[in-house]
Amino acid sequence: MESKHGHGHWRGRALVAGGGIGGLVAALALHRAGYEVTVFEAAQEIRALGVGINLQPHAVLFLAELGLLDALRATGIETGSLLYVNKFGQRIWQEARGLAAGYPVPQISIHRGELHLILYRAVLERLGAAAVRCGASLVGVEQDGDGVTARFVDRRDGTPLGSERGALLVGADGIHSVLRRLLAPDEGPPRFSGCMLWRGIAEADPLLDGRTMVWAGHAAQKFIAYPISATAAQAGSAHLNWIAELRVRAADDPDRTPPGTDWNRRVDASVFDAPFASWHFGWLDVPGLIARAGAAYEFPMVDRDPLPRWSDGRVTLLGDAAHPMYPIGSNGASQAILDAQDLAARLVAGDDVVDALQRYDAARRPVTAAIVAANRRQGPDEVMQIAEERAPHGFADVHDVISQAELESVAAKYKQTAGFDRDAVARAAARVASSTATVS
Ligand SMILES: Cc1cc2nc3c(=O)[nH]c(=O)nc-3n(C[C@H](O)[C@H](O)[C@H](O)COP(=O)(O)OP(=O)(O)OC[C@H]3O[C@@H](n4cnc5c(N)ncnc54)[C@H](O)[C@@H]3O)c2cc1C
Repeated sequence: MESKHGHGHWRGRALVAGGGIGGLVAALALHRAGYEVTVFEAAQEIRALGVGINLQPHAVLFLAELGLLDALRATGIETGSLLYVNKFGQRIWQEARGLAAGYPVPQISIHRGELHLILYRAVLERLGAAAVRCGASLVGVEQDGDGVTARFVDRRDGTPLGSERGALLVGADGIHSVLRRLLAPDEGPPRFSGCMLWRGIAEADPLLDGRTMVWAGHAAQKFIAYPISATAAQAGSAHLNWIAELRVRAADDPDRTPPGTDWNRRVDASVFDAPFASWHFGWLDVPGLIARAGAAYEFPMVDRDPLPRWSDGRVTLLGDAAHPMYPIGSNGASQAILDAQDLAARLVAGDDVVDALQRYDAARRPVTAAIVAANRRQGPDEVMQIAEERAPHGFADVHDVISQAELESVAAKYKQTAGFDRDAVARAAARVASSTATVS
C-alpha cells in the first residue's frame, strides 16, 4: 500500500480503521468537516451482512443532516410504537415512538446490510472510490508530534500492506478492535452476560399495525420482533426481524468468558427453539417465525467495562470499539453514529487534533458508559422482568402488578440516559435548523 501522502498532505487527512456502520458515518462526517478521509476495512469487500438494526431519532437526525433520510425512509420502517408483553403475550406497556411520539424525525428499523450499503454508496459518491480500501486490516500504530502512522496487513495470510500517514486515526474496528487492544493491552475478551441471542428474518403477514416493535418475555427468555422492509410493507407483507434470547449461564457465574463472537455464525433453529414452542399469542406466532426464517445467526450478549480513556494523542476509538453494549434498548448503531457526529464537530472547530480528540473523549465516554451500565440493569426491558417476578403466571390487568407511574418512570429514565428523550431531540433539531438558516 504505497502512500501518496508523503509530502505533508496527510496533515488534513483522517484515517479510519473499520468500514462498518460507525466507520462509514465517521467518514461522511469528517469529510464534511473538511478532512480527506480514507477508510481501511479488514474484509475483502463491503457486503450487506447482518439482520435488523434500529436507529433512534437522535441518530436519524444526524443521518438526515448528512442527506440520507430519504434513502432510510425508502428502505426501512418508521417505527410507530414499542409494545412490551409477558411470556403469555399479555400487554405490559406500550409507548409511541418516533414521529408518532412527537419527535421531529422517525425512529427507523432497517436491515443492517441495507443501511451499510446506503452509507457505502454515499461514501463512494462524496469521497470517491479510493476512499475505502478493503482487505486492509489495522495491526499497528505509531505517532509523533505532528502525525500518526498506521500499519496494515491482509488478514487472510498476514501479508504486510505497508503503512499510511494521517493527522489522526479513528478505530471504528468493532467489538474485536485492534486499536482498543493497543490502548488497553490487558483487557482480555468481551464480557459475557450469560445470555445467547439468535437472530433471523421471516417473511410474514404484517405484525399488528405494521410499525410495532414487540418485546415478549423476561430477562431469562425473550423474543423480539419488528418489521424492517419498506418494500415488503408496500407489497402488503412484512420482513420481520426477530431475536430469540435465552439465559444459558447463571447471572452470577464468575466466568465471563464469552462463547464465539462471530457476527456471521449460522446455527440450526433446533439449538434454541424448544423453550419457545408454546409462545403462540394469536397475534404473534413465535415458533412459526423461527421456523420460517431461512437462517439463524448466533451471537452472545456481550459488552465491555468502560475504559479510562479512548483518546491517546492522535488516535481514538468509536462505536463498538469504544463502548460495546448489550443490544437492550436498541442503541448500538445509534451511539456509533452519535460518536461520529461529536468527533467531527470537535474537529471542525479548527482546534488542534489532540485537543479535539480529548474533548470528544470527555464528552462521549461518560455518556456511553452510562448506557452500558443501564443495559446491564435491563434498560427499558426492566418492566418485563418486574412483571415476571410479580406475576409469573400472568395477570388480568398489568396495573394489578405494576403501577402506571412505575411503568412510565422506567421508560423515561432510559430515554434520558441514552439521550433520546423527546425534548433533547427537539432541541437538537432546532439547532440544526437555525445553523442551516444562518448558512443559507
Ligand atoms: C458482519 C456484521 C454483522 C452484524 N450484524 C448485526 C445485526 O444483525 N444486528 C445488530 O444489532 N448488530 C449487528 N452488527 C453489529 C453492529 O453493526 C454494531 O454493533 C453497531 O452498528 C456499531 O457499529 P461499529 O461500526 O462500531 O461496528 P461494526 O459494524 O461491527 O463494524 C466494525 C468494522 O470493522 C472491521 N474491522 C474489524 N477489525 C478490523 C481491523 N483490524 N482493521 C480494519 N477493519 C477492521 C469489521 O470488518 C467491520 O466492518 C454486525 C456487525 C458486523 C461486522
